[in-house]
Amino acid sequence: MTVKTEEFRKYAHQLVDWMAEYFDEVENLPVTPEMKPGDIYQKIPEVAPDQSESFEKIFTDFKEKIFTGMSHWQSPNWFAYFPANSSKPSVLAEMLTATMGTQGMIWLTSPAATELEERMMEWLRQMIGLPPRFTGVIQDTASTATLVALLTAREKITGWKINRKGFSKQPFTIYCSTQAHSSIDKAVKIAGFGEENLRKIPVDEDFSLIPNLLEDAIQKDMKAGKKPLVVISALGTTSSTAIDPVRTIGEICQKYGLWHHIDAAFAGTALLLPEKRWMNDGAELADSFVFNPHKWMLVNFDCSAYFVKDPKALVRTFSITPEYLKTSQDQVVKNYREWGIPLGRRFRALKLWFVIRSYGVEGIQKMLRHHLKMARWFEQQIDTAEDFKKLAPVVLNTICFRYQPPHIEQEHILNSLNQMLIEKLNETRRVLFTQTKLDDKFTIRMVIGQTEVQERHVETAWQLIQETARSLAIEN
Ligand SMILES: *Cc1c(COP(=O)(O)O)cnc(C)c1O
Repeated sequence: MTVKTEEFRKYAHQLVDWMAEYFDEVENLPVTPEMKPGDIYQKIPEVAPDQSESFEKIFTDFKEKIFTGMSHWQSPNWFAYFPANSSKPSVLAEMLTATMGTQGMIWLTSPAATELEERMMEWLRQMIGLPPRFTGVIQDTASTATLVALLTAREKITGWKINRKGFSKQPFTIYCSTQAHSSIDKAVKIAGFGEENLRKIPVDEDFSLIPNLLEDAIQKDMKAGKKPLVVISALGTTSSTAIDPVRTIGEICQKYGLWHHIDAAFAGTALLLPEKRWMNDGAELADSFVFNPHKWMLVNFDCSAYFVKDPKALVRTFSITPEYLKTSQDQVVKNYREWGIPLGRRFRALKLWFVIRSYGVEGIQKMLRHHLKMARWFEQQIDTAEDFKKLAPVVLNTICFRYQPPHIEQEHILNSLNQMLIEKLNETRRVLFTQTKLDDKFTIRMVIGQTEVQERHVETAWQLIQETARSLAIEN
C-alpha cells in the first residue's frame, strides 16, 4: 500500500510537531540511554514484514523502541568528542533534500545542486579567509577528504603512474604529529602506502608538531632511499585542539617538494573569526585543506568542506568516464563525481545555503564567540580550583583537565581516579564527556560547542564535576 498524498501531509505535520518539541525538550532528556548491548536488536523482528504496516504503528515503535535507545548529540549537555551540531535551518533544508531525493553525481543530474555547491564553497572559502587560489568541493567526511588528498598527492607526484601501473616498490613516506587524527592512519593504509611508512613526529609541550624534527625525519628518509610525499598538519588536534605551525610546515614542504594537507576538521570553523585566523597563517603554501561544517558550523552531519589548490590534479586522479556518464556539457561544467571517491552524491549544499543565510556570517561568529567565552570561564574555574588541573593550553573551546587533589601524587592513582570520575559523571546521564591521554595522563575533555549550550549548562556541569570528584576522593 502506498502512502497517499493526504496521508503524507498528515504524518509529516505530526513529525514536524514532534521535531519542534524535540528541539525544545532535548536538554531535559538523559544524554545517553541506559541500555545493554543487544537490548534494541532484540526488540526488532527477525524478519521483514510481508504486509504493509500503518504509519501510526511504525511511529509508535520509533518512539518506544528506537528513540529510547538514542544518544542526544543535540543536547546542550553534550560535552563529548567534538560536537556534530544540527540547527533548525539545516533540518528544514534536509527535509527538502530528502523529498527531492536528488543524486547529484554530475551537472546534468541536477544543475542547481552542482552550481549551488560551487557557490557555497566560494562562500565558505571567503568566510574562513582561505586565499582565492583554493577551489572547494563537499565530501562526506574529513576522513574521505584526507584520503582524497593522499591519493591526489600520490598521483600528482608520480605523474599519475600508480593509477596506471599500480604500486611497484615506491617507498613513500607520510608525516604527521603524534597527536594527529586516526583517519590519517586509516587513509595511509587504504591508499596503499603501508602504515610502517607513516612517521609520527613528536610534539612540544603544547602538543604541536616540532618542525625541526619533521625536517630531520624527511632528511633521514631521503638518505635511506625513501620518497617523502605528504605532510599533514593538524589545525586543532582531536585531543586538545593543538595547532601545528602551518607556515613552517608549508615552507618545509616547499623545500622538499612535498604535498601539504591541513586537517582543520573541527577547528576550521573558528577561522570564521578574524581573531583566530593566526591559526591558519601560511595556509597559502598548502595544497589542500579540510574542515567540517558538520561539526561546529550548525550544518547537520554530513558535510565536509575540502579545498584544493590544483583541482585539475584532483579530477585527473579520480576521473573515469564510461560511455553512460558522458554528457555534451562536460567541457564547461563541473561534474563532482570526478572530485572524490563515490559516484553518487547527496545534495549537501542546500543545508549550507539555508544555514549561512539564516544565521548570517555574523550570527555564526556570535555563536562561536559565545562558546569561546564559556570555555574561558570554565578554564578559569579549573585554574582556580586547588584540586583540578589543566593539562593542555585552551586554544579554543576544548578544555583538557583532570581531578588532582593535593594529597595524591602517584600517576597511576590519579589515572584510575579520573577514569572513575568520568564513568560516574557519564552514569548520571545528565552530561557526556570523553577522555584522552596526554603525556600518559588520563585526561577529561570538556568541549563547549553545542548549538544551544548556555552558561547554565556549563555551570551545572562544573557543579556536577566538583561534587562527583570530591565524593570519590572521600570514598577513596
Ligand atoms: C573529527 C576529526 C576528523 C574526522 O572527521 P570525519 O569527518 O568524521 O571523518 C579528522 N581530523 C580531525 C582533527 C578531527 O577532529
